[in-house]
Amino acid sequence: MSEMKKEILFLQPVCTHNIWGGTKLREEFGYPVEGDDIGECWGISAHPNGDGTVKSGAFAGRKLSEVFKEYPQLFGSLAYDRFPLMTKIIDARDDLSIQVHPDDNYAREHENGSFGKTECWYIMDCPQDATLVIGHNAASRKELSDMIHGGRWKEFIREIPVKKGDFIQIDPGTVHAIKGGLLILETQQNSDITYRVYDYDRLSNGKPRELHVEKSIDVITVPAKSVEDSVKSVLGLPENTLNELYACSYYSIFKLDVNGETVFEQKYPFLMVSVLEGSGTVDGQDVKKGDHFILPCGFGTVKMQGRMSLMASTVTS
Ligand code: ZN
Repeated sequence: MSEMKKEILFLQPVCTHNIWGGTKLREEFGYPVEGDDIGECWGISAHPNGDGTVKSGAFAGRKLSEVFKEYPQLFGSLAYDRFPLMTKIIDARDDLSIQVHPDDNYAREHENGSFGKTECWYIMDCPQDATLVIGHNAASRKELSDMIHGGRWKEFIREIPVKKGDFIQIDPGTVHAIKGGLLILETQQNSDITYRVYDYDRLSNGKPRELHVEKSIDVITVPAKSVEDSVKSVLGLPENTLNELYACSYYSIFKLDVNGETVFEQKYPFLMVSVLEGSGTVDGQDVKKGDHFILPCGFGTVKMQGRMSLMASTVTS
């Protein structure tokens, strides 16, 4: 096929309603969604439950999943049968359920060939004295099963303090929960498989939401990774630099704080970018807080100007 001009893929996100969601995604980020239960903005997603739409340019109106399938060269022609990653902003007005995700092997076998789910969080904002749940206190699988079946949640759940600018990697098998008040940028494998361990005995439409106790006990890692190995602060990184925060076999995560001007090379198969704060330009095109876009393969030199904070990610190749 003929050489096409490389353009930035700006995406129209998909927002979701959740019992624990709030109003920040509309009021602070300007996404056009009604309701006061907006939990998630799937900023860069090609998942069947929320497939983003390209906003402008040659692919305007097309779903990201279609563009990925039809133009693999824009994404480095990698051997994925579907778009591999997803970026979300999560606004938790209330606590989310205590949950865990399976790995690829378990999900393939038990969830119709789905990907497993490895994810990570960057805390964009939170109240003072904020906490979240990461890991658990069971020493053996027997104790894990006893604590869960016995409803010994206070003993079981490991709740830790967090602050703005913390980064948390959540491997499959890690018990985790976002607590009310947190605003989070989540980067994850393109998967929606979640096992709910405990939902604080809440009701949704008059009924408790389904729990997945036995699958959870199957997949939870025992003992849990230490707190020190789970959370790190990533504040105070150099400005105008694409700082790598973390890399695992699924993704590499970067933070970029533009103050004035920065120029870097887009040398990755593709680079997913979300504007967390502020505004500016990318190669002369205006961007602002809440915008999500993809710099395709072979984009070359990227020039950004303004005052803005961005998160970026790509597949680890
Ligand atoms: Zn999760």
